[in-house]
Amino acid sequence: MPLVDPELLKILACPACKKPLEEREPEKLLACRACSKAYPVEDGIPILLVDRARPL
Ligand SMILES: [Zn+2]
Repeated sequence: MPLVDPELLKILACPACKKPLEEREPEKLLACRACSKAYPVEDGIPILLVDRARPL
């Protein structure tokens, strides 16, 4: 069971740098490798807010 719908994941982008995000399933995060930020996923909803990001 993916954290986020794969079709949705394709259109999501990091709010800081606009690069694609990748799922980190064990940690329930969407990770941006371009700027080393990780965004939480809460109840299947990615929280794509820079002020909720944590360093990767
Ligand atoms: Zn980024």
